[in-house]
Amino acid sequence: MLVVDAMKILITNDDGIYSPGLAALAKVAKRFGEVTVVAPDVERSSASHAITSHLPISFKKAKIDVDGIQAFKVNGTPADCAALGLHLSKIDLVLSGINMGPNLGNAMWHSGTLAAAKQAVLLGVRGIALSTPVGKDDPDFEAFESYVEETLHLLTKDDALTLYNVNFPPKPKGIMWTRQSNRMYDNQIVPSVDPMGRKHYWFTVIPLEAAEEGTDRWAVENDYVSITPLRLDLTDEALLQQHLKEKGGTAQAKGQQ
Ligand code: MN
Repeated sequence: MLVVDAMKILITNDDGIYSPGLAALAKVAKRFGEVTVVAPDVERSSASHAITSHLPISFKKAKIDVDGIQAFKVNGTPADCAALGLHLSKIDLVLSGINMGPNLGNAMWHSGTLAAAKQAVLLGVRGIALSTPVGKDDPDFEAFESYVEETLHLLTKDDALTLYNVNFPPKPKGIMWTRQSNRMYDNQIVPSVDPMGRKHYWFTVIPLEAAEEGTDRWAVENDYVSITPLRLDLTDEALLQQHLKEKGGTAQAKGQQ
């Protein structure tokens, strides 16, 4: 008889361990293997890929709203949680989310959700970040639970070292492979005053242009689950080739030896 070990899955997020999005993901992930949760003790949204290198981090046992899952809360960032979770036991797959808020287009640069999945890939374990938009009320995770399951089926077919960014619309009508939308956004800093008359500032990050067809933003705006395969190499290959051709491989200015 062929005995296949259960897939070992680590779940983390940036909304904090008690987020309903994490519980919704854990509920589905249980169908795929053995789930452990290692997640921040408080919300760390927009933490991006920060790591805690100047202080020790520690963890405590926690109880989340899904039966039969070991969970630990950490006084660290999402990337810390991925790294600590991978240190504590052997893991085959890291899932991060489901984030309460989309991580589309340029939002990927700020996302703690995506950073936790990226950290996993940097450490040699495949990672998937999962997010959904949020309105006035919390998302209805049950409304797209079947799509979470279908997405995990699609993305765990083999064990290649891959990084995916997934975004679920509230009521999906299908799944699309997409590229990252790369539009400029309005990064105005809006000054205001607090009740004590002190100055403070709000950052706004609103895309300036309509989403391009085939992108992550376009898919979610059109009620499709967006799956974007990502890479960690940020090199602009075309620009590199241009410079290599011009300078013969050296970047030194004339006269500098
Ligand atoms: Mn978040």
